[in-house]
Amino acid sequence: GVNLNLNVRGLGVSATLAINELSNDLLRQGREVFKLGLGQSPFPVPEWVVDALRQHAAEKDYLPVLGLPELRRAVAGYWQRWQGSEFSADDVMIGPGSKELMFILQLVFYGDLVIPTPSWVSYAPQARIVGRPVHWLPTRREDHWKPRAEALDALCRQDPDRPRLVILNSPANPHGYAFTETELRALADVARRYRLILLSDEIYGQLQFNGGHQSISRYYPEGTIVSGGLSKWCGAGGWRLGVFAFPETLQWLRRAMATVASETYTSVSAPIQYAAVTAFQGGTAMDGYLHQSRRILAALAEHHVDLLRGAGVPMASTDGAFYLFPDLSPLTDTLRRRGIEGSVELCASLLEDTGVATLPGEAFGRPPSEPSLRLAFVDFDGGQALEAAAGLEGPLEDAFLRRYCGRCV
Ligand code: PLP
Repeated sequence: GVNLNLNVRGLGVSATLAINELSNDLLRQGREVFKLGLGQSPFPVPEWVVDALRQHAAEKDYLPVLGLPELRRAVAGYWQRWQGSEFSADDVMIGPGSKELMFILQLVFYGDLVIPTPSWVSYAPQARIVGRPVHWLPTRREDHWKPRAEALDALCRQDPDRPRLVILNSPANPHGYAFTETELRALADVARRYRLILLSDEIYGQLQFNGGHQSISRYYPEGTIVSGGLSKWCGAGGWRLGVFAFPETLQWLRRAMATVASETYTSVSAPIQYAAVTAFQGGTAMDGYLHQSRRILAALAEHHVDLLRGAGVPMASTDGAFYLFPDLSPLTDTLRRRGIEGSVELCASLLEDTGVATLPGEAFGRPPSEPSLRLAFVDFDGGQALEAAAGLEGPLEDAFLRRYCGRCV
């Protein structure tokens, strides 16, 4: 249309949704499709959290724009217990998914966006929609795709006083690697030097396989906004509940975000917020659920890493989440012989030939010619992975893999 906002002209549907639609087309044609494209939690929402939702189904009132006070308290308590953070209920904002909160943050913050390449598909389009410049932080496969403090420093040094929002994600989508404490401290030093605003996207934090997730807010508390939500560790992506916590110095951003929220979505669905209180309060049952989730994901990750290694793709074991980001450059000759040049062609031909749906590296900000792709190793419908694991005997990982990954081999 001629009156389309220039910022959205040329923006397609997100790559993730597009590949899902393509897979659905193939399914309708009766083809078998392995949906390794979409990154949904393979686990059901814990039953006691679902019960809490049932009990609050009749809650019908609009809630405060920043969120249900009880939930904001529960979220602050959760980060205190988990990361030793000093957030209080007042620092917390609840939104309809962390994705929406990120969008509003980008809208109200006036400055550049800095993100690693590769990183999650939505950060850059959000910046583009609100008309902000995007700067990509280079990474290397040898560094497990994690941006180095030196790279951040080099980028900032070019124009030291420019206002910048940097998004870091650990463990990361699309590659599953997590920052070490040393790396976090080094990045935090650079952030402090240039007074950067960090958004620490910790949506997969609870799904770090060794349970040892560390928030960069420990090392740069004054400039870090922490982002999380129910979508990944609680299996509740479709519930649409995300949370941000702001340090004292960045409350001006929270206030501006609240204004935008009040003029747009008003508040998150009331029953969902009541149920989320139960989730964030945690407890022994939740600890057990998370422990089992991590074990299953770690086993699945290792299994798929082994398969890739066996196929001649060098891969280091990952640290968390449910993704692998193999770079098939070592197979360039083979790919060329088959007429495959870049990541989009690679994914299209994989889907067409084998029914395996993945996402091209290009969607995550990699050069189009690099044959990299993201594979989500959680192809379970209806969140049955935990149920599946429940009835197994012997070492959980082995039995689980034998039963549920046989067809991937
Ligand atoms: N951040 C990352 C890295 C993600 O992978 C996702 C979901 O795929 C999100 C944020 C968004 O999560 P939410 O459901 O809270 O909007």
